[in-house]
Amino acid sequence: MKQTIYLDNAATTRTRPEVVEAMIPYFSQYYGNPSSIYEFSTPCKKVIARTRETIASSIGAKANEIYFTAGGTESDNWAIKATAEAYQAKGKHIITSRIEHHAVLHTCEYLEKRGFQVTYLDVDENGVVKLDQLKKAIRPDTILISIMFANNEIGTIQPIKEIGEIARSHGILFHTDAVQAYAHVPISVDAYNIDMMSVSGHKFNGPKGIGFLYIRTGIKSRSFIHGGAQERKRRGGTENVPGIAGMGKAVELAMADMEQRGEKERELRDYLIKRVLEEVPYTRLNGHRTNRLSNNANFAFQFIEGESLLIKLDMEGICGSSGSACTSGSLDPSHVLLAIGLPHEIAHGSLRLTLSQENTWEEMDYTVEKIKEIVAYLRNMSPLYEDFMRKSSAAAR
Ligand SMILES: *Cc1c(COP(=O)(O)O)cnc(C)c1O
Repeated sequence: MKQTIYLDNAATTRTRPEVVEAMIPYFSQYYGNPSSIYEFSTPCKKVIARTRETIASSIGAKANEIYFTAGGTESDNWAIKATAEAYQAKGKHIITSRIEHHAVLHTCEYLEKRGFQVTYLDVDENGVVKLDQLKKAIRPDTILISIMFANNEIGTIQPIKEIGEIARSHGILFHTDAVQAYAHVPISVDAYNIDMMSVSGHKFNGPKGIGFLYIRTGIKSRSFIHGGAQERKRRGGTENVPGIAGMGKAVELAMADMEQRGEKERELRDYLIKRVLEEVPYTRLNGHRTNRLSNNANFAFQFIEGESLLIKLDMEGICGSSGSACTSGSLDPSHVLLAIGLPHEIAHGSLRLTLSQENTWEEMDYTVEKIKEIVAYLRNMSPLYEDFMRKSSAAAR
C-alpha cells in the first residue's frame, strides 16, 4: 500500500483516538437530549458544562462566556454579523485585514452590501498587519476590529496584544479568528483584550463540525440562530453532545502538551525549510521567518505552477496545499500571497506544508527529495524557466 505523508494540518487534523473514545458513549449510551429534565439526560448536561469549564480555563475566560458552534466559519459569522446588528446605532464601520479567512472576508463583503463600510488593512511583506494604518483607519463610527490571530496560509502571528490595546483604548470591540492559533500558542483573552474569539475543534485534533465562540460578558450580541433556549438563547438547536465531549477531550490533551508539541513540530519544520531553501534554487519562504506557527512552512517556487506540484506530490503520497483548501479549485492565486506583495506568477508557484507532531524525520527527507525531483521536472518543461536560463547564461557570457 502507498504510504500517506500528511502535511496539511492547517486544513484539518487527525482526530486523536482518545477524542474518539470520549465521544462514543454520547452516541449510543447517553443519547438523551440535554434540554430534557429526566435524569437520563444528566450525563449530557454534565459533559457540556464540563467542556465549557475546560475551554474557559484554557483562555482565562468564564464558562458562561463560551458558546458552542458548528466550527470556525459559524463563529466568525456570528461574531461579525451579530456585532454589526447590535451596534449599528453606534456606527457602521468595521476594520479587518486583507489576509483573513474567507469566513471573515465574505461575511464583511455581505455586510458591505447591507450598508456597512469595511476597511481592509494591508499587511507588510511578512504578512503582519500595519499598526499605524490600523490607528489611522479608526473612525468615530468604527464598531469592530476583526483581525486573525495567526494566518492559515503563511502562519504569520499578528501583534494581537497591540491590536487589542488599540481597540480597547478607542472603545471598539475586538474579535479575533484564532482557529489556527488556539492550542498552538498560549492565549489569554484578558491579557490580549480580546472581546470575541473564534475556535474550531478539527484544527487541533478534535472532531469536525464543532467549535466555539468566546463572547466577553457585557457585550451586546443578538441571537444568532433563532430557536430553542440553548446557549443562553443565543444559538438555538440541540447541542452536538458527542462533538462537545470530543472537543473537550481535545482541549485537555492539547493544553497538556502544547509546548512539547510545538518544539517537535518546529524542529521538523525548520529542518524541512532549511533543506528546501538550500537545495531547491529560486525558492523563497513566505510568511514571517520567526513569528509564525510552529508547524507552518509556505514556499514559493519560481517558474512552476503550485497546482502541478501538488498533483505530482499527491502521486507520491504527499498531501499538501497550494493556498488554502477553500481556494484550491479556483485559478486565482491566494489573496494572502498577493497581499504580502508576491507577483501573480510567483504566488502561483506556492506550496503550503503544515506539520503535526506525528510526522517523522524520514517523512521530511522523503518530502524534500520529491520536491527537488518534481520542481526540477516541472521547470524543465517550463518556457518561463527556459527563457530565464537563456537570458542568465547570455548575461554571464
Ligand atoms: C479552518 C479555518 C476556519 C474555518 O473553520 P471551520 O471549522 O472549518 O468552519 C476559519 N478560519 C481559519 C483561520 C481557519 O483556518
